[in-house]
Amino acid sequence: MTGPDPADGAARPERGATAATASGARPVVELRGVTKTYESGGGTVVALSEVDFAVAPGEFVAVVGPSGSGKSTMLNVLGLLDAPSEGDRYLAGRDVTGLTDAERTDARKDAVGFVFQDYHLIPTLTALENVTLPTLFDRDGAADDRARDLLDRVGLGDRLDHTPDRLSGGQKQRVAIARALINRPGVLLADEPTGNLDRATGTTILEEFRRICAAGVAVVAVTHDDLVTEYADRTVELVDGALR
Ligand code: ADP
Ligand code: MG
Repeated sequence: MTGPDPADGAARPERGATAATASGARPVVELRGVTKTYESGGGTVVALSEVDFAVAPGEFVAVVGPSGSGKSTMLNVLGLLDAPSEGDRYLAGRDVTGLTDAERTDARKDAVGFVFQDYHLIPTLTALENVTLPTLFDRDGAADDRARDLLDRVGLGDRLDHTPDRLSGGQKQRVAIARALINRPGVLLADEPTGNLDRATGTTILEEFRRICAAGVAVVAVTHDDLVTEYADRTVELVDGALR
């Protein structure tokens, strides 16, 4: 697959090509002309409107906007949890527009890690079990070791056997981050990652994101927290579903 001609100016790359990011690297995740509408109460809600968005390896992008501006929808469309009504999506340079459900699940598992709003940990499982959960159906025996290593790296090496009720908000978020990294994704997608945390704890999570980016994994965080934008390489704004 070849990238677009840099001399092409504003011309949109043809379908199947991969736009170069500013660094020249192939984007880990990309939306082209993505519109998402929902039918709701007899009317149509435009949640995303002709969004073009690309993220380079190791880049930390904050997506800000008020409540209802389309942030969660954008994250779900980026991570293949929701389908666009129009437009194309690429993961690791691969056009994923026409994939079957099964192919999409595979692509998502390999390329994307999700940090959901409000942690989404299983309350009856330990930290270690929560982190290995995404590997449940194709265990290679190394998942436990990798989960221990990830929990160690996020400072929870001594909390492996703790269930979420014995962890603070910041610690739960660290477990959620370790879980998102278990399958070695190219990009981590986080929905309001500091939303439930005080400023000091939020800061430690954002420092964690910077370390993750330094290791070459991109982070996209949708948020209305200004603190996130201080740590991001780049901030884009959603206004009524359109990217500014
Ligand atoms: P944000 O995360 O920025 O608060 P969302 O992406 O959740 O915004 O929502 C964007 C818009 O799309 C809102 O108007 C919301 O009501 C609407 N929306 C989101 N999901 C659905 C859905 N499943 N059905 C109908 N409307 C939805
Ligand atoms: Mg939201």
